Amino acid sequence: MNIILLGPPGAGKGTQAGRLEQDRGMVQLSTGDMLRAAVAARSPVGLEAKAVMDAGDLVSDELVTGILSDRLDGEDVKQGFILDGYPRTAGQAEALERLLAEKGMSLHHVIELSVDEDALVDRITGRFSCASCGAGYHDRYKQPAVAETCDVCSSTNFKRRPDDNEETVRNRLLEYRAKTAPIIPYYEAKGIVSRIDGMAPIAEVEASIECILDGG
Ligand code: ADP
Ligand code: AMP
Repeated sequence: MNIILLGPPGAGKGTQAGRLEQDRGMVQLSTGDMLRAAVAARSPVGLEAKAVMDAGDLVSDELVTGILSDRLDGEDVKQGFILDGYPRTAGQAEALERLLAEKGMSLHHVIELSVDEDALVDRITGRFSCASCGAGYHDRYKQPAVAETCDVCSSTNFKRRPDDNEETVRNRLLEYRAKTAPIIPYYEAKGIVSRIDGMAPIAEVEASIECILDGG
């Protein structure tokens, strides 16, 4: 099964995608993670994307579609994928349609997570992750079970994203409203959109997603 998790930054897409990877063996395709890896590797793509990401603007459709297209050719993706952070513009939605047709793949669900704007800022400014395996946490909503130790890999090193500050977050939310939210009707017209209350606790959001994937 192939799905898109759609929602503003901080809505919980990465949290839910990580869990779907563990529980269902689906593959998380986060264009944000791919771009951060390119920045860390100082590749040409990373060098081009870094300043744009630091400002909370959107990287060009061509660049991000290029890295996604390569990733979609991975053998593991055939197990089913979760798109997290892509598409983010009408151009990307059209590019995705073309890519999937070329690769003989289809899209089964678009799950929209809706969350109030103040809660998004609160979630993003409190977000941190394991520096070793990438597992995500929050200062108040999702602490590791043992203080300062990753639940997944026991690492004691954590990191915060440079773009997770209030000023950049506000710009990322503006970008979402202006460029990403308008693509929802495109998928509604295909009859594959389900909307979930992303304000609910993590476990409840998980249960709602399970219900959609199991056809309930
Ligand atoms: P996104 O991938 O959509 O940007 P994340 O999954 O990284 O968002 O979630 C942002 C932050 O909010 C993380 O620190 C995460 O632990 C926390 N979080 C995710 N879902 C919820 C939820 N339903 N309730 C409270 N906090 C949440
Ligand atoms: P995310 O990890 O999804 O919050 O993305 C972090 C940043 O990476 C965004 O603020 C953008 O600068 C960039 N980015 C990630 N995905 C895309 C995309 N699909 N299109 C354009 N820019 C993207």
